[in-house]
Amino acid sequence: MLQVPNQKIDVPILNENGVELYVKREDKIHPIVSGNKYRKLKYNLLEAKDAGHSTLLTFGGAYSNHIAATAFAGENAGFQTIGVIRGEELEDSWEANPTLRFAHSHGMQFHFVSREAYRQKEEGDFIQDLKSKFGAFYLLPEGGTNRLAVKGCEEILTENDAQFDYVCSCVGTGGTLAGLINASAPHQTVLGFPALKGDFLKEDISNFVRKWNWKLITDYHFGGYAKVDASLVTFINDFKQKTNIPLDPIYTGKMLFGLMDLVGKGFFDKGSKILAIHSGGLQGIEGMNAILKRKNLPTLNV
Ligand SMILES: *Cc1c(COP(=O)(O)O)cnc(C)c1O
Repeated sequence: MLQVPNQKIDVPILNENGVELYVKREDKIHPIVSGNKYRKLKYNLLEAKDAGHSTLLTFGGAYSNHIAATAFAGENAGFQTIGVIRGEELEDSWEANPTLRFAHSHGMQFHFVSREAYRQKEEGDFIQDLKSKFGAFYLLPEGGTNRLAVKGCEEILTENDAQFDYVCSCVGTGGTLAGLINASAPHQTVLGFPALKGDFLKEDISNFVRKWNWKLITDYHFGGYAKVDASLVTFINDFKQKTNIPLDPIYTGKMLFGLMDLVGKGFFDKGSKILAIHSGGLQGIEGMNAILKRKNLPTLNV
């Protein structure tokens, strides 16, 4: 089974508060494909193969880690891939977008749709239209979360990780967190840090888990999905300088910001051992820097 190292973090605030923090470097699985997206695709690709499919179809925004991962992993496994992308205007300008360029270079065919159409993507008529356009396909939901994706994420934790009191992860759809919860030991607490606003997450996650040793920390979304401010950028640059660990601004940066803030506030008992999952997402930095530059905000060091 695919395993990555846990890296011990050595910054003063941890010592001062009597806690230990390790980061599981799932970002090392691949330089561009997010670690958790890889895990989420594993059993879905096997299922698609078993069912005789040759094409994968999925959905995403222009900077989506899931789109990049589906293109790359799909190509590796011998599938055609189709990405239904939010935003008609990208039809003419997608080559300026690093995520879409990467996906295209790994064989993904795009279908750009308006934001209104995108909102209806789960409805029968929309899917039927796609089938008449592209033929049969194996459908991966937006963000890649379904039961098989959760099963893949159950493989993130190893036996050795039972030594930790807390396991922390960022949350988008919650599939990754659900896998961690299912794989956690009863004495562990799993903390999820949503990268977006949304009361639906708790219920979505509950659908995939059978345990109660988890909690969502909802104070660190920075205003919503992909919203970033100067304090977050500064934190990410500083963290990289001190630990040599690059964080992405959409997910892992927000989680580590929140985690460090909680450490400083005494949230964790002295002696606690904390494991934070670095789920990857680093391919999004280039696109985010272009946006930050346009807004005259500080940019992320790469
Ligand atoms: C997609 C993603 C997440 C969120 O995963 P979910 O399973 O949707 O909660 C977290 N981190 C990174 C880097 C991601 O790309």
